[in-house]
Parts: sequence; structure tokens; C-alpha cells
Amino acid sequence: KYNQNMDFGRNSIIFVLMEDLPKHQGQRRQLADLLEKKGIKDPQILKAIASVPRHFFMDKGLEIWAYKDKAYPIAADQTISQPYTVAFQTSLLKVNSGDKVLEIGTGSGYQTAILLSLGVHVYTIERQNELFKKTQRLFNKLYLKPKKTVFGDGYKGLAEDAPFKGIIVTAAAPEVPQALLEQLEVGGRLVIPVGVEKQLMYCFTRTASHNFDKESFGEFRFVPLLENKE
Ligand code: SAH
Repeated sequence: KYNQNMDFGRNSIIFVLMEDLPKHQGQRRQLADLLEKKGIKDPQILKAIASVPRHFFMDKGLEIWAYKDKAYPIAADQTISQPYTVAFQTSLLKVNSGDKVLEIGTGSGYQTAILLSLGVHVYTIERQNELFKKTQRLFNKLYLKPKKTVFGDGYKGLAEDAPFKGIIVTAAAPEVPQALLEQLEVGGRLVIPVGVEKQLMYCFTRTASHNFDKESFGEFRFVPLLENKE
């Protein structure tokens, strides 16, 4: 039940072959402990942080930093989000195994992998072609199985697969894209950092067909959500 979208029998063998070593596992447990101290309470999310090898999602040269609670550069001038941010956004989504979630900004694929390890059915969109292809190859190599990976503009969401239980935006939006609100099911949640220079984290809950609750959760920093131009 726990890992229905990560074939763990197979994943664990792949992880060994890809050099997930005891030292990495130890560092991940420490990272999970640190996030718990920083206020992440959900044991499932802490377990996901302790089990997904973040160093697989980073460049070899940065691998020694993989279990620091920091954002790092990936390809195409983008960043892999800080683990605290990943855990915090994931907890705001309040998802359960089997829920349908749309992610805007696949990037390195790390946030995707965290959601997959929670048993979530993930649809993910990336607008940078280089990154899209690179991360696609990594998912294949690791036997990670999002429901759909899309090369395209996340501003529009993914109407053909809507509605979603959760939508998570991992880049800074200057404003809240209307399409994303429309693609939430009733009871569903949109977690999105909004702002230009710096961002506030917002969570919108669709309480009824034409009704949304809005809560804000403090300041974060993200790379910008860009309109599609390729
Ligand atoms: N979840 C990622 C975060 C990557 S940074 C991770 O954990 O690594 C944000 C990503 O959003 C970048 O890869 C960027 O290319 C992508 N992005 C920016 N604007 C976008 C858009 N309009 N649609 C889809 N992806 C977008």
C-alpha cells in the first residue's frame, strides 16, 4: 500500500546499484530529524525524506551537499528545492496514498519522488526541455512511475486529467493561475508560492464549486514560474 507507485522490490536493487550507501542513508535520517525539529510533524513525510536518495537528483559534483537543508543548482539555471520546502509544501497538500496530484515544475524530480513514495498518483509538468528530458531519463533509470510527465506550460494546468486532489507549484507565480483553481476537485488543495522578489506560500482549498478558502504560510524563495516560450 505504501509505495504503490515506486516498485520497491526493484527500486531497492536499483538504489544499491546506483550507490545509495549506508553513509547516505545515515545522512538522510539526520536530515529527517532536522526537518522534524524545524516543525515537520507528519511521520509519513519524514519517512519519505529518510528514504528517497536526494543525491540521485543532483549533479555528481554537488553530491556531498545533498543532505544539507538547502536548495542547489540543477540544469538550465533551475534549482532543486530545499528539503524543508519540499516537506512543508507536501504537508500543506494533505494527501493520502492513491490521491491524484498535479505538480508544476518537475525540475530535478525530487519532489515528484517524495510524492510517489507516499503512494500519490503524480502528474507533473516541466517547461524546460533539457530538464524535462534529463529527468525523464532519471525516472526510467530509478523505476519511478509518475502517471504522466508533460513537457509544457504549467500555467494552463492539465485540463484533460483534472480534477486533482492536490496541485503543487514549485516555482514562484506572480499571480495565482485561474486554470489551476478550476482544476481542483471540491475539497482539493492548491499549494503555491506567490510573489515576485520573494514569495508567500498560499494554500487554496476548494470548499465548494465556487468557493475557495485561502490561507498563507510565511515567506519562501523560488525560481520564477515562466510563461511558455519554447
Ligand atoms: N520540484 C522541483 C523544483 C524545480 S525549480 C525540484 O524539486 O527539483 C522549478 C521548476 O519549474 C524549474 O524546473 C522550471 O523550469 C519549472 N517551471 C518554471 N515555469 C514553469 C511553467 N510555466 N510550467 C512548468 N514548469 C515550469
